[in-house]
Amino acid sequence: MRRLESYVAGGWHRPTTNGRTLLDAANNEPVAELCPIAVDPGAAVAHGRDVGGPALRELTFHQRATMLRNVAKMLLDDDTKEQLYELSYCTGATRSDSWIDIDGGAGVLMSYASKARRELPNSTVAIDGAVEALSRDDSFSAVHVLTSRKGVEVQINAFNFPVWGMLKKFAPAFLAGVPSIVKPAAATAYLAEATVRLVVESGLIPEGALQIVCASPAELSTLLDSLTGQDSIAFTGSAAIGATLRSHQAVTEAAVRLNVEADSLNAAVLAPSADPDSAEFDLYAAETVKEMTVKAGQKCTAIRRVLVPQQHLDATAQALVAALENVVVGDPRNPSSDMGPLVSLAQRSDVEASVAALREATVPLLDNSAPSESSGVGAFMAPKLLQATDRWAETIHTVEAFGPVATLMPYSSISEAIELTAAGSGSLVASIYGADSDETGELALGIASHHGRVLIADSTMAAANTGHGSPLPTLVHGGPGRAGGGQEMGGMRGVFSHMQRTAVQGSPSTLTAVTGEHITGSQTRQHKGHPFKLTFDELEVGDSITTESRTVTTADVAAFAESTGDKFYAHTDEAAAARSPIFGGIVAHGYLVLSFAAGLFVWPDEGPVLANYGIDRLRFAKPTYPGDVIHVVLTCKRKTQLDGRGYGEVAWDTQVINQHGEINAAYDVLTMVANSPGRNGAPQ
Ligand code: NAP
Repeated sequence: MRRLESYVAGGWHRPTTNGRTLLDAANNEPVAELCPIAVDPGAAVAHGRDVGGPALRELTFHQRATMLRNVAKMLLDDDTKEQLYELSYCTGATRSDSWIDIDGGAGVLMSYASKARRELPNSTVAIDGAVEALSRDDSFSAVHVLTSRKGVEVQINAFNFPVWGMLKKFAPAFLAGVPSIVKPAAATAYLAEATVRLVVESGLIPEGALQIVCASPAELSTLLDSLTGQDSIAFTGSAAIGATLRSHQAVTEAAVRLNVEADSLNAAVLAPSADPDSAEFDLYAAETVKEMTVKAGQKCTAIRRVLVPQQHLDATAQALVAALENVVVGDPRNPSSDMGPLVSLAQRSDVEASVAALREATVPLLDNSAPSESSGVGAFMAPKLLQATDRWAETIHTVEAFGPVATLMPYSSISEAIELTAAGSGSLVASIYGADSDETGELALGIASHHGRVLIADSTMAAANTGHGSPLPTLVHGGPGRAGGGQEMGGMRGVFSHMQRTAVQGSPSTLTAVTGEHITGSQTRQHKGHPFKLTFDELEVGDSITTESRTVTTADVAAFAESTGDKFYAHTDEAAAARSPIFGGIVAHGYLVLSFAAGLFVWPDEGPVLANYGIDRLRFAKPTYPGDVIHVVLTCKRKTQLDGRGYGEVAWDTQVINQHGEINAAYDVLTMVANSPGRNGAPQ
């Protein structure tokens, strides 16, 4: 039998002593052996810090994003993926469960890759928020910069999603320039190990950016003890182990950042006016059944508490029982199985103990003995739907049966539904089903304080619904209180959580040099010709032109009103405009000012500027009156090379200034600018 190896400090380490046999969930056949680790796990921290981190920090966000996309493509290759699917069956996962784990994990990499290329600069530094002016004359300012921490992230993962659970942590850390060290859960470590092997052996990411320690918790001490304030731990698992880590010396004394994603008793709530004939009721029932049975209910986001208006209790019980009775529990390799076994016999014993505890305050609605396979050796368990006898009993809101188990409970009012949902003391997600947006809105805001994500489902979004139980890379995953208080993903929020935010104060020119982005007030280079004649490669941040002036006339304003149809009184009705507390007379349309500005700064001939694709941060700071004489100061603010496309994005700081030196309008003009011939894929 294969011994699981650890990838540490650039090599695979094969254990030399016997260990624990990991069994196939469906047939108890040996799959792999998890043995005492043959290398010091602490070496992974040093290697990540000394080799992986520096290599990652050399790369820009866009280069890291390209690597993530390539890793995703490699994992999604049919032959590659199939190797993982074969191992995934051993965990008890059906093919569709495995799709969530494997394809879903690669999907997180893809999503992060494209989002990073859209939202992050092609740089190693990101600017967080606006420039803070610290002086009246723009001589002293501050920016918040985000830079990579010079440490590692240690992932301690739960057993249920060995691939997705690992990749959803890896992607944001990698983009942030921080290497990951994975400690997989024992029960499914063979699938995590196989995935890391594929990634490492692909050569698609820098050495040291991803390591895996297939070790027992007791063997982690040198690893955890060597962490410092530059490092982080991302834990996913039970609240109990989360609490143990919170009191670890690394966290309490070395200020290692700890993110805990723990268990939670997520709720589904049918809104008061959603009756059993409604489309929303069907969604609620279908989603509850799905969440109880996907991954045999071993999902941190699964619905554990099913809340229903008192008057629909019986109808809901009947609908759920009818659907659950049809669920085929069986070998995950058999395509006709709807649900596979739990991950192990030990896990099944845990779930049975939790169900026994829940029995104190519930009666079973559906507790059929498991189908034929359960008499065999696998960890099968049929879905168990319970009904609360006392909906306020503590057990119902505290005991997490991490399997195909849910408790149905009635509520009498929206406020009671909110309180019952909050009785879970903080959950990852809740879903609300109803067509009346007053009700669902009140429920959503009432429970938001106790949740990281709230899904409101109605018939209008049903076809596009991604589901109660699906955390998305663009949305935050994590909840307060019992759910651990951590947050992961959430698009760039997840990346920035790995970076240090530093307020840098100084002169605008210094800040421009630090950030690579033109900061208002910093020195510019007046361009003798026109910067629109420069290629992306010739152009430098700070290249600027001050245009000719033009007078805005009453006739211009009237003609613009006529040709566009924008006859707002402030542009057309002298008496009404005079009464305006803001204008006090006829003013030019803001869009006329922008159009005149474009007429002043645009270089008309064919040249490197390929397109104007938008405007950011537009503000009309002062009204422009007929008779005003305006000119434009246009400065190259930011350059973002788009790898291999033959062009890059250039943002131009644009100020429209009147004859008194006042700024009428300020904005960033966004353009695509061609590279020099032969550069970055541009034609020769
Ligand atoms: P677990 O028993 O808490 O184990 C989680 C991880 O912690 C495993 O890798 C485990 O290693 C490790 N571990 C155990 N003791 C440790 C210690 N003293 N120090 C450091 N690490 C230690 O949880 P699980 O059974 O794998 O997963 C099921 C639980 O995870 C459920 O409660 C579920 O709700 C929760 N979960 C939460 C989320 C979320 O995103 N919030 C996601 C998935 C699961 P070994 O496996 O080697 O013991």
